[in-house]
Amino acid sequence: MTELEKRTWAEISLANIRHNYRAIRAALPEGCRFVGVVKANAYGHGALAVSQALEAEGADYLAVSCLDEAMELRDGGIRMPILILGHTPVEFTFLLADNDITQTVTCLKKAEEFSAECVRLGHELRVHIALDTGMSRLGFLCGPDGAANVLRAVSLPGLKAEGVFTHFAVSDEAGEDNEAYTRAQYKLFCDTIEAVHEGGFDFALRHCANTGAVLHYPEMALDMARPGLLLYGYGDESGELGLKSCMRFMTRVSTIKHYPPGTCVSYGRRFVTERHTRMGVVGAGYADGLFRCLSNRCAFWVGDGFAEQRGSICMDMCMIDLTERPEAGVGSEVEIFGVKTSLDALAAAAQTIPYELLCAVSKRVPRVYKDF
Ligand SMILES: *Cc1c(COP(=O)(O)O)cnc(C)c1O
Repeated sequence: MTELEKRTWAEISLANIRHNYRAIRAALPEGCRFVGVVKANAYGHGALAVSQALEAEGADYLAVSCLDEAMELRDGGIRMPILILGHTPVEFTFLLADNDITQTVTCLKKAEEFSAECVRLGHELRVHIALDTGMSRLGFLCGPDGAANVLRAVSLPGLKAEGVFTHFAVSDEAGEDNEAYTRAQYKLFCDTIEAVHEGGFDFALRHCANTGAVLHYPEMALDMARPGLLLYGYGDESGELGLKSCMRFMTRVSTIKHYPPGTCVSYGRRFVTERHTRMGVVGAGYADGLFRCLSNRCAFWVGDGFAEQRGSICMDMCMIDLTERPEAGVGSEVEIFGVKTSLDALAAAAQTIPYELLCAVSKRVPRVYKDF
């Protein structure tokens, strides 16, 4: 890292990712495979580095959201199977086939398009069938014609149907109603697979367990689990499995100023000092992924304790009250989230989910691979 980059950076512990992988694997039923979900730049942790670590650990599959993400991994030398969870336009079938990338197929019409393109090119495409069991996003509907449509799709020429999956809407949310919904989704998934079986076709890989299901419904792991957030060590119950957070979002104190009481701080004058204040300016703002809605609503770890964030968060910097942190000076490192400051708590303060804060850590923030 150059001096310039030391303004704000993200430390990523690949050792913690490997630790989490092993801990989750140990909690899964014997023989259950593991898909590392590395979409969205591995939830901000760096897709290639995380994928290399998972490949070295012996994970079975990787999942990404789109062709660009899959190609980044193939171009980076990743050889293990990769599943694209989202849509790929049919004209890129040759890239999928040439690079041995598995594509999700979400309806009969698209299955027919991929099949026709494969026949035209003389290629074979490995696919997983997505079933919509209640997420109402991608996937074959599981109504009366559901199994029949799936059977037609899997028997099309040029397609090698390896897997089938569904996605849960509320497996991570507590409450009887949510539990009933998840169980109904699972039953519809299993019933549809059974009907396809009766029609004469069996999938090698049946999968549905995201983070919420791995934690709350281990009996739904089937052939393969695909936790994302959990792999990175976040979520309310990640501590129960002994998981560790894998990212520390860091910045540094660049300047310290002393203000009398009654001093307005930052845009909009949304904070006014009530005492003599030793205020630090740090080099992280909303362009780095520190949400502006957190202004005056969070505290960061610096020196030996927390410092309250004060005033509106700006694009490239924000202010923190160092009056009670005399040990912190210009150049002190500040942890926005990570080990001392929980991402989950920060997400709650921003009225969002930890996923969004991780994905928000912007391109401007260099990722530094360093164990902690
Ligand atoms: C993102 C995603 C996952 C992983 O979700 P987590 O909640 O992070 O475990 C699994 N499956 C699909 C289809 C996804 O889109």
